[in-house]
Amino acid sequence: MPQSRKKSKRSLNRKSSYNLPENGTYALLLMLQRSATIKVGSFNKIFFKKGGYVYVGSARRGLRARVGRHLAKKKKIHWHIDWVTTNRSAKVYKIWVSSVVGAECRLAAAIAEEADEVVRGFGSSDCKCQSHLFYFTSRGRAELVLSKLGLSSYKSWP
Ligand SMILES: [Zn+2]
Repeated sequence: MPQSRKKSKRSLNRKSSYNLPENGTYALLLMLQRSATIKVGSFNKIFFKKGGYVYVGSARRGLRARVGRHLAKKKKIHWHIDWVTTNRSAKVYKIWVSSVVGAECRLAAAIAEEADEVVRGFGSSDCKCQSHLFYFTSRGRAELVLSKLGLSSYKSWP
């Protein structure tokens, strides 16, 4: 079961979210500290290897609130990614943002080219992308790819 821990409570402190724009296309960089088999919505179960994951989304408004939602351990499950972020081994490490709103599918396609693996069908029920979630064996490489694609990162949370 998802658990609320101290960690998630202090995750979104005002300082770290201060400069986050109000809208944009974003990439959530999250780390799975242990491999885990997670039930995800209409999928049966997905085996997630330990490592770094990049999830792509977009907020036409309310990006700060959206990020806060991604960080929360307790929430009503709505998106595929909620099944992962509420897992106890998952930790949102950084948020990367482009000010271009609605560019999530283009961004997902660009990341797919560089990712070590693609979690097929994940987060892309409403579009034609193969996925909006990507696996990187190394967090450093994921960060390099995101920065090469012109996204700005916002402070990692404690
Ligand atoms: Zn898409």
